[in-house]
Amino acid sequence: MSDKRKITVAYGDGIGPEIMTATLSILEAAGAAIETEVIEIGEQVYLKGISSGIEPSAWDSLRETKVFLKSPITTPQGGGFKSLNVTTRKTLGLYANVRPCKAYSPFIRTHFPETDMVIIRENEEDLYAGIEHRQTEEVYQCLKLISRPGSEKIVRYAFEYARMNNRKRVTCMTKDNIMKMADGIFRQVFNEVAREYPDIQTDHKIIDIGTALIADRPEMFDVIVTLNLYGDIISDVAAQITGSVGLGGSANIGEEVAMFEAIHGSAPDIAGRDIANPSGLINGAIMMLVHIGQPAVAETISNAWMRTLEDGIHTGDIYQESISKKRVGTQEFAAAVVERI
Ligand code: NAD
Repeated sequence: MSDKRKITVAYGDGIGPEIMTATLSILEAAGAAIETEVIEIGEQVYLKGISSGIEPSAWDSLRETKVFLKSPITTPQGGGFKSLNVTTRKTLGLYANVRPCKAYSPFIRTHFPETDMVIIRENEEDLYAGIEHRQTEEVYQCLKLISRPGSEKIVRYAFEYARMNNRKRVTCMTKDNIMKMADGIFRQVFNEVAREYPDIQTDHKIIDIGTALIADRPEMFDVIVTLNLYGDIISDVAAQITGSVGLGGSANIGEEVAMFEAIHGSAPDIAGRDIANPSGLINGAIMMLVHIGQPAVAETISNAWMRTLEDGIHTGDIYQESISKKRVGTQEFAAAVVERI
């Protein structure tokens, strides 16, 4: 029997195939013990009339391998289609979305060189529960669903994450001054669980001032735990201020299955031109390697990736005359990482 860990891979849409090819070439060069099984998701599947955007047979692969490395997909506009990301998270019970946002100053330009935070976003509930109704011709309703067990699961995950990763503080963000019950229960659970972790500092910020502080003083945050919609928004803000949305990777963790991806979308505006930054998916793949018990390979890739950035080999989105040495395309960037392994 092969000692390689089988993983499910999807190349996705837009820049997806380019960044996946680049990422897999790095995993192979670093000696990751993985065997890939490719599934089809996204535009091609929607075109076949499958409204979920994922082939029914693909679920078998995901349930068997339990690890999914996924490129972004293009979500079709208009009614009738479901968001594949929301469907995947809910079907596989991927309750925790983990998004590290770190500055790589001075190698990548940022106004906030001290940024090093991890956003832990609840991934199944809130306004993303998909409960929407048309009440009258002119009124639509979308239900915000927050449960005590769901809140407890994500809050506990955030504290465990902080402890395991030697992080000092967990900040909770809600709007419990207005949504006293829904956001209120999330904050109440946070306060209760916090008592079990006396070694970790805690605080709470109302989401609006919290977002403003992320945009202005990101260095004050360590781990942030928050509800689904707030987490979606603040993690893009946090990724952008580190230099580019093209840098961030993310993990979607469930009890059994986990999915790893870049935080950005399919970037149709630059697709097919070999100019996309593959770093977001590379960072997602690094998190995947740690998850499947190959931390040494993860570290090798992380170091080679950092050295590539330090050597000024940059894709267009992070290229700066004053800092960069060479502007490269997607595959050339991957080749430069491979050279440094
Ligand atoms: P986007 O993240 O695809 O692009 C936003 C901007 O960032 C664009 O200018 C793009 O060129 C740039 N960009 C993104 N990734 C980059 C990279 N790796 N290197 C260089 N530049 C990069 O967001 P969007 O344009 O709002 O969405 C495009 C499509 O992606 C939509 O259909 C959306 O629904 C989908 N989407 C998918 C996912 C996912 O599958 N996980 C996530 C977000 C958006």
